[in-house]
Amino acid sequence: MKRFPNYTHSVEKAQEVLSESEIDLFPVDLRRILKRFSGMIKLRSYSAFMKKWNIDLDECKKMLGSPYGMTRCLKDYDECLIYFNDFMPKETNRFTIAHELGHIFLRHFDEQVCTPGNREQIDNDLYKTQEGEANCFARNLLSPTYHTEQLLSAHGISLCKNPKTHAKEWIKSSITPVTLNLKTRFDPKGLLESAFQISALASKARLDLLPWDINQYTYHGVDSKITENIKHSVMWNCTRCHTERLHPAIYCTQCRQKGRFQFSGDVEKHYMPISISENGHFNICPVCGNSDFSEGSSYCKICGAPLLNPCRSSSKHFNHPEARFCAECGASTNWAHSGWIDRINHDGYYTGGLQEMEKEKTVEFDKTTFRVTECPRCHNKDFSIDAEYCKICGLSLVNRCVLEQIGGDYREPEYAPQHANLPDARYCECCGKETIFLYEGVLKSYNGEREKEQAKEFDRDVIPF
Ligand SMILES: [Zn+2]
Ligand SMILES: [Zn+2]
Ligand SMILES: [Zn+2]
Ligand SMILES: [Zn+2]
Ligand SMILES: [Zn+2]
Ligand SMILES: [Zn+2]
Repeated sequence: MKRFPNYTHSVEKAQEVLSESEIDLFPVDLRRILKRFSGMIKLRSYSAFMKKWNIDLDECKKMLGSPYGMTRCLKDYDECLIYFNDFMPKETNRFTIAHELGHIFLRHFDEQVCTPGNREQIDNDLYKTQEGEANCFARNLLSPTYHTEQLLSAHGISLCKNPKTHAKEWIKSSITPVTLNLKTRFDPKGLLESAFQISALASKARLDLLPWDINQYTYHGVDSKITENIKHSVMWNCTRCHTERLHPAIYCTQCRQKGRFQFSGDVEKHYMPISISENGHFNICPVCGNSDFSEGSSYCKICGAPLLNPCRSSSKHFNHPEARFCAECGASTNWAHSGWIDRINHDGYYTGGLQEMEKEKTVEFDKTTFRVTECPRCHNKDFSIDAEYCKICGLSLVNRCVLEQIGGDYREPEYAPQHANLPDARYCECCGKETIFLYEGVLKSYNGEREKEQAKEFDRDVIPF
């Protein structure tokens, strides 16, 4: 009886292997998969085989029955030998090995299988079925449907009717943040070749069979979630300093080179995953990790960092906090100019102090006047209705930013406006100046806490036991 290919099973198996091997980056590292299954799968090259039997390549191909590769499966899958033709290009071999892995994981050796010598005898239909399944496994292992689709759509590529040939093709049909301002030419096939490190042939097949594979998800209930978290290591980056391109940048935000980006894997600098709102605000403070901001605030209340990075030539050009140059006009940015860029915490945030500071959020205050209901310094609760200061210790009951003279003279000094802040703010969310509670030592400073914590860690290191 003819067995029809079960592509759903092939796709699911490929996902399973990716997740079991903890693959988290494209191009898929096949060595990692082989290592995960090293107990059962071994890799052998054609050259080793030729040496062993003292034969030339043609004889080797004939003996192994394929110009690309083949698998010998012994002892009920406990010992699988994958032979691959190491004279072929790397990309070709990646597919060959993935294909052979398909035969193994799909347990094709339980059925009649083509081993050297019996290829003619085996049922041609079954052979085709198994080949189809192994290929489906291989393309979904190296270039999973979900990620292929995401990559194409990020580049504005969709399946359209070619007006000349009337055939459906993957064509650039819209402008996206990635393609906006991007002068470098690219085509869908080339993108996939680079992103997944596959051959031109495999890339074409990937594109041709993509709608077919999408159906596996849409109509056969394949869940893409299992492998969705795999990231790309190949991305657009500056041809000179290899910094990741912040779409839709015109300029490189590190070296200021204009308009020269490439799609490659040799990225030297990645940006921190900080999102920037339409009005330029960061969703998290890149210095201290605080993300509890009052609406419309311009500065981090914990460490005082500005929460936007406009360039010095336009307040409307919003940049990533790590950008030294404006992506839009190439001017230097505020964060670079002010030196805040050097205080960015790249090795993960210091959260110990933040937790300590969380406690201070429990200080009660009036939501309209920001006046505390208990003096945080002497714990006096007895205030007159309009009291501005604690009558016992003299502390301001509203945590305003410190007074700053900005003009006038000693007789008629002119002061900057003082903004009311939440009781746990070290810095004014409005103007970035220190607050009275920090100045008076009622609140611990973020830097102080951080240094203390670092000193503690240092102590732990030097103790010899
Ligand atoms: Zn095969
Ligand atoms: Zn650059
Ligand atoms: Zn901060
Ligand atoms: Zn600018
Ligand atoms: Zn007091
Ligand atoms: Zn202020």
